[in-house]
Amino acid sequence: MKIEHRMEQPMRNLFENITEIKSQIEQAGGATLLLDFDGVLSAIAPTPDEAFISEENKALLKACAERFPVAVITGRELSEIKKKMKVENLLYIASHGLEWEEDGKDHAKTVPKETMEAINLAKEKIKPLLPRYPGMIFEDKSFMFAAHYRIMDPALIDAFVKEVNSILEPIVKQYNLRLDHNLMTFELRPEIDWDKGDSVKFAEEHLSKKTGKKFMPIYIGDGLTDEDAFAVLKEKGISIRVGEDRKSVAKWYMKDQKEVALFLKWLLSLKQ
Ligand SMILES: [Mg+2]
Repeated sequence: MKIEHRMEQPMRNLFENITEIKSQIEQAGGATLLLDFDGVLSAIAPTPDEAFISEENKALLKACAERFPVAVITGRELSEIKKKMKVENLLYIASHGLEWEEDGKDHAKTVPKETMEAINLAKEKIKPLLPRYPGMIFEDKSFMFAAHYRIMDPALIDAFVKEVNSILEPIVKQYNLRLDHNLMTFELRPEIDWDKGDSVKFAEEHLSKKTGKKFMPIYIGDGLTDEDAFAVLKEKGISIRVGEDRKSVAKWYMKDQKEVALFLKWLLSLKQ
């Protein structure tokens, strides 16, 4: 992640400046909608399994997908995000860009064997922590894994973080892996030199090829990895962060995840 983005400009409230957004979209002749899943389409849940898209958001997104090019960009696995969303006619970019679904077909990048072996080795060392840290959640995915401590007894957290770091740091140093520690989650995956900014470019390219038009890209995200997506769209798109609680390179913010539905409704009121 190119995290050295400059964050000197404060975000502006999206709905207070919605006419500015409207004219940007109109000038481009329409919008392309790109969204993160967790914390955007779904509320942040205590465990990853519990996260779900509300019926309202699902219906709104279905309606959007009939009108605009839409992509969902997530760190979740492809099979998992499709199961959670069950919305067709959109581009899914999953596992941090390692897998995607386009026109109903699944695609995946190849990961070197040595990288996968290192990830599996790390898995075998992290899994045995489960009985010692009640509340730890281990998410075993095909290309990566995550260890969450959002529902762990706060008294255990310091020791847990220390222990996970001491196990993973030597493995990360030795192999080409990426360790993210964010939102009370550790995530280890292949370092593929591909971030959400690249996924945004990929989505824009694929969606504009399909429509033959270059609409105004809108990206909505909430996490640290979304900063790369915001940075890519800083000058030439509409970058929206859910929440004003942290500094961000996004140009706009909405107050909370509930406002996502409001924004989708507003989008649907536009002509395209
Ligand atoms: Mg998120």
